[in-house]
Amino acid sequence: MTTFDVIDPATEELIRPVTLASVEETDAAIARAHAAFPAWRAVAPADRARLLRRFADAVDGAREELALLEVRNAGHTIGNARWEAGNVRDVLHYYSAAPERLFGRQLPVAGGLDVTFQEPLGVVGVIVPWNFPMPIAAWGFAPALAAGNAVVLKPAELTPLTALRLAELAREAGIPPAVFQVLPGAGPVVGQRFVTHPAVRKVVFTGSSKVGKQVMAGCADQVKRVTLELGGKSANIVFADADLDQAAATAPYGVFDNAGQDCCARSRILVQASVYDRFMELLEPAVRGVVVGAPGDEATEMGPLISAAHRAKVASYVPDGAPVAFRGSAPSGPGFWFPPTVLAPVSPGDPAAVDEIFGPVVAVLPFADEDEAVRLANDSDYGLSGSIWTRDVGRALRVSRAVDAGNLSVNSHSSVRYSTPFGGFKQSGLGRELGPDALASFTETKNVFIAH
Ligand code: NAD
Repeated sequence: MTTFDVIDPATEELIRPVTLASVEETDAAIARAHAAFPAWRAVAPADRARLLRRFADAVDGAREELALLEVRNAGHTIGNARWEAGNVRDVLHYYSAAPERLFGRQLPVAGGLDVTFQEPLGVVGVIVPWNFPMPIAAWGFAPALAAGNAVVLKPAELTPLTALRLAELAREAGIPPAVFQVLPGAGPVVGQRFVTHPAVRKVVFTGSSKVGKQVMAGCADQVKRVTLELGGKSANIVFADADLDQAAATAPYGVFDNAGQDCCARSRILVQASVYDRFMELLEPAVRGVVVGAPGDEATEMGPLISAAHRAKVASYVPDGAPVAFRGSAPSGPGFWFPPTVLAPVSPGDPAAVDEIFGPVVAVLPFADEDEAVRLANDSDYGLSGSIWTRDVGRALRVSRAVDAGNLSVNSHSSVRYSTPFGGFKQSGLGRELGPDALASFTETKNVFIAH
């Protein structure tokens, strides 16, 4: 039996060991899900809706407990962790309306009646990263269950605790245990088995672009359906006509939230050259003002990084001699701390401007005009998110259309709402989660013609 020691990243203390599933245990879980699928898809739509609402209510009742678990396991601030648990509840509520609204269509044809059905796929495998363990799990399992699929879910090795608790809450709410199973395990063991097992008909993968490409290639062998939510290197574009005070005050939170371990982090700030100096003057106090500390404290705005190995990777982007413009603070002593760090000026080809650092490090680059801003923003293999700061409505629209990214916000840094589609262009992913259309990717369209 293999176990993984789950560590509190803010204290480096052991929380508890978690048993990792083997290939044989994964196969057994997939077989249970496969056997449970016919009865689950046959549950009357109103009853499946009721079960999902009960699951949502159970999550709501356990919100503080789940939040505190995430504070310990992932070092998330208590404010963020409460939002994340609430997001699981909201996503379940949103998709609880789906079983009774999985409409097909009736199409005009000669000689009979033509109708479409949205059929569930069967067993869906969901592979989750460590950066947002609760919401990212729910964005997969909630619509998958609503559409009538059985789900096997693998949390990240580092952060399995909230997913395990969510599986218990599902069971307490009356969801059959074999219909939603959480299997902590190693990526190349459990995750890889989701890819190769023929009874798993779809894989939802959120994680690095490197592993995402392997998952996609592996799924090709069985023409297995796949949704990929991968990395990002999103641009926060600040034009000279923007509310500079607001743009500078919020820029740290657009990148340092969750200690920068956010696929939507605006980790490149592009600033129009004519206001560059003024923007940097305003940015400095905002960055120094970010409250970094114990994630359970109500006032904390940024916690630690997830692991020692990850901190070493982030630190490699700030070597001796790096162009550090200014930094915030971070606690000393135990914990995987790293201060908010602003690198400027950075040239477009510099690794700090190209790679997803996934930590609290931001690169600031100047641009001359709108054309150059768009060119720099799109000068990336990624295309997940981004922000545009301007008071000119025409420019906001032009630039929103021109930037190749799936989730943009104007004069704000918002990316995720459960009711709107989320996903990436280019190497940031494939497919969309959340919103009204996510169900389509958990069903097959079947066309039936009935002769008169
Ligand atoms: P990762 O790719 O290392 O791991 C993600 C998950 O895949 C983990 O559960 C891991 O165990 C599993 N895995 C690893 N090897 C596997 C294999 N061979 N087969 C199947 N599964 C395997 O990523 P990570 O370090 O956990 O997460 C960070 C990355 O996730 C970042 O690149 C970030 O941008 C990305 N991310 C993207 C989104 C999004 O929605 N676009 C959201 C959050 C995180």
